Amino acid sequence: MQIETLAIHAGRTIDAATGAVTPPIHMATTFERAADGEFPHGYLYTRNANPNRSMLEACLSTLEGGHAAAAFASGSAASMTVLQALEPGAHVIAPRDAYTGTTRLLREVFAAWGGQVSWVDCSDGAAVAAAVTPQTRLIWLETPSNPMLRISDIAAISASARSVGAQLVCDNTWATPLGQRPFELGADLVVHSTTKYLGGHSDVLGGAVVAQADSTLWQRIRQLQIMGGAVPSPFDCWLVLRGVQTLPYRVRAQSEHALRIATWLSAQPQIERVHYPGLPGHPGHAVAAKQMRLWGGMLSIQVRGDAQAALAVAAKVQLWTRATSLGGPESLIEHRASIEGPESATPPNLLRLSVGLEHPDDLIADLAQALEQ
Ligand SMILES: *Cc1c(COP(=O)(O)O)cnc(C)c1O
Repeated sequence: MQIETLAIHAGRTIDAATGAVTPPIHMATTFERAADGEFPHGYLYTRNANPNRSMLEACLSTLEGGHAAAAFASGSAASMTVLQALEPGAHVIAPRDAYTGTTRLLREVFAAWGGQVSWVDCSDGAAVAAAVTPQTRLIWLETPSNPMLRISDIAAISASARSVGAQLVCDNTWATPLGQRPFELGADLVVHSTTKYLGGHSDVLGGAVVAQADSTLWQRIRQLQIMGGAVPSPFDCWLVLRGVQTLPYRVRAQSEHALRIATWLSAQPQIERVHYPGLPGHPGHAVAAKQMRLWGGMLSIQVRGDAQAALAVAAKVQLWTRATSLGGPESLIEHRASIEGPESATPPNLLRLSVGLEHPDDLIADLAQALEQ
């Protein structure tokens, strides 16, 4: 079945008790045992499993074409669980350019427990191959990366991972299952912040780990999810499952609008550089063309001048909202260096744009007036 159909039906069933077409929200924390001591419905206690979470996990696993999924209370909780599931002292290869929260988890939590991290420019496949050692247990990829939209070659890097028996995890938050199919390119795990495109309405925090196949690492992730309990509430699961139904149509429009906006911005004299994989001049364009089905709704721009010049543009937009995050229906603009803090390697004149679902002509007109001033 095609992804549009799966997004609407995967994981959902008509409620057997009432015929409700939209699933009820099961707030129960505990489930009745039968007289023989068994759990005839398969549910015991809501930290272990909950009907709304099971529906969401089935849906996300199906969308990615995986074996199973574990839903978490945030994308960061999902990422942290992948790292916690590794053996003590494991070596991880991580991208230099990635979501700051992931970088901080690796640096301040994983490394503090004795994990070894090699920071590599993952858009350079040869650099990744050179960093792999027999101790490497995991290669972490985020492609397109945040906020520079660097592209890593998933298939090539999966070969490096395989050469030493390491697992390849791909943060597919930006591309979404519509835009990029990491499992078809050799990834073992996919991580999502469902807070972004999957939820899609800027009103629910969540995350997920999807496994391509059953493995010791996957079983450990499931165990940590259940034992640690960093799980989303039934209502949060319900909201993400609802958001997913329109994912294909939202992401396709956002990607189409982002290409128009990126192309327009590239021609503006006030803009020094546009980072968008859909532009032929982007250094990762060829790899992106090979592995992405959509270019995505995210782009970054460098405004000619310094941080003040970029902040001035962000200050003058009227329709774009100055806020962090991405993937919602409303377009957002953000000065990334100031949110990433003093350790940030992001160019000070960079603004990150999350293209929403407004008409692109209106979004371009607003950027035009902000640049003119
Ligand atoms: C937002 C984000 C995360 C973290 O997700 P939260 O739900 O905010 O914890 C991880 N990776 C990427 C690429 C993100 O954009």
